[in-house]
Amino acid sequence: MSNIFTENFGIDEKVLNYAEPILKELRSRFAELDETAEYNQLKVISAMQKEHVGEMHLSGTTGYGYNDEGRDTLERVYARIFHTEAALVRPQLVCGTHALNVALSANLRPGDELLSINGKPYDTMDEIIGIRPSKGSLAEYGVTYAQVDLLEDGTFDFEGIKKAINDRTKVVAIQRSRGYASRPTLSVEQIGEAIACVKGVRKDIIVMVDNCYGEFVQKIEPSDVGADMIVGSLIKNPGGGLAPCGGYIAGTKECVEQAMFRLTSPGLGGEVGPSLNVNRALYQGLFLSPVVTANAIKGAIFASNVYEKLGFRCLPDSKEPRFDIIQEVDLETPERLIAFCEGIQAAAPVDSFATPEPWDMPGYDSQVIMAAGAFVQGASIELSADGPMREPYAAYFQGGLTWYHAKLGVLESLQKLYEKNLIVL
Ligand SMILES: *Cc1c(COP(=O)(O)O)cnc(C)c1O
Repeated sequence: MSNIFTENFGIDEKVLNYAEPILKELRSRFAELDETAEYNQLKVISAMQKEHVGEMHLSGTTGYGYNDEGRDTLERVYARIFHTEAALVRPQLVCGTHALNVALSANLRPGDELLSINGKPYDTMDEIIGIRPSKGSLAEYGVTYAQVDLLEDGTFDFEGIKKAINDRTKVVAIQRSRGYASRPTLSVEQIGEAIACVKGVRKDIIVMVDNCYGEFVQKIEPSDVGADMIVGSLIKNPGGGLAPCGGYIAGTKECVEQAMFRLTSPGLGGEVGPSLNVNRALYQGLFLSPVVTANAIKGAIFASNVYEKLGFRCLPDSKEPRFDIIQEVDLETPERLIAFCEGIQAAAPVDSFATPEPWDMPGYDSQVIMAAGAFVQGASIELSADGPMREPYAAYFQGGLTWYHAKLGVLESLQKLYEKNLIVL
C-alpha cells in the first residue's frame, strides 16, 4: 500500500495497519460528535443572524474605541449563544488566566471569600488567588480562599460544599476541564447539580465557571445550568483557531459590568476598548469553533484508542464520554514522552522541522517538554502536546483545527515511538 502517509511523512505500513481497524471502529462515535457540532454550529449562526451581524461589524476601531459596533455586537452574539444577559469579549483580555483574574478581582471585595469546590484550580490561578504568594494577588487585597476537594471518585462533595460556605463566601469557582490534574472532567450536568447545591445554601453567591477547553463540547454550557459567569480563552475553543488573542467573560449583567470596570477603569467600563483589526477573526473563529472543537475531540479519542490498546493508561479512557478536548496519555518513560512530542511536532504545518526538548520552565518543579507548531503563539486549540518530565511521563495532547491534522499527529507520534523501538506493534 503506497500512499501519501508513507511517501510524504515516512509513516510505516505497520503503523497504518495498526491504526486502520481503530479508525473504522470510531466511525459511529464520530457521527455523534458531528451531530453535536451541527447543533452548536446552528446555535452560532442563529445568534449571528438574530444580532444582525453585518459587513460593517467585521472591521474595527482604534484609539478609545468608542461606538465600536462590531465589538458590541460580538458581545451580544456571545451572550445569546451562552444564554447570558451580557458578555465581555475583548482582545484586551490577554489570555484565559487574565480573563479569570478580571472576573474574580472585579467581583470580590476585601473581606470576601472565594471558594473553589473542585479542589485546587488550574496552576496559573495559584498566584491570582495567592495560594502561592504573589504581587497583586487576591490575598494581598484581603480576599480569603477556601477549597473543597472532589471526592475520591471525582464527583462533588455536596456535604463538604455546604459546610464550607460561610457568611463571607462571595464567589464559588468551578473548573470544567481537568486541566493537568488527574481527575475526571466535569460534565455540564454535574456542574448544574453543584450550582444547585450552592444556590440552595445562599442564592446570592456568585458561581463562576472556568470554561476553558469546554466550549461547544456539549450542547449546553454551564451558563445554561445556573452559572453566573463563565470565563474562557479565545486561543482555545471559541476562537476557532482564527482569533489571534483574547478572552471572554459571559454572565449576568451585574457580574459582566463589574468585569468591564475592572478591565478598563471605573467610570469607563465597556464603552472603551478598540477592537483594532481583530473583529473579523473573532467572528469567523467563533463561526468555525463548533466544528474545530469536534475535530479536536476526534483527535483526542483517536489518541486514547490507539495508546490504550498498546497498554498505556489514558485519561479519559478510550470509551468515556468527553467533556473537554484534553487527552492524557501516560507514557511511563522519558524516552517515550520525548518521542511522542517529536511526532506531534513533525506533523505541524508550522515549525515541523523543530525538535522539541525538555527545558526548565519557570513555575514548574520539573522540566517540561512541549510540541506545538501553531499559527497563533501558544494556541492550544491547534494541535499541541506537552508534559512534565516526571512520572508517569504523561503527555497532554490537545487541539487540532482539522481532524485530518490531529490524525496525522497521532500517527506521527506512533511512528516515532515505533522507529525508536519504544512500542511493539
Ligand atoms: C488554559 C486554561 C486556563 C488559562 O490559561 P491561559 O494559558 O492563560 O489561557 C485556565 N484554566 C484552564 C482549565 C485552562 O485549561
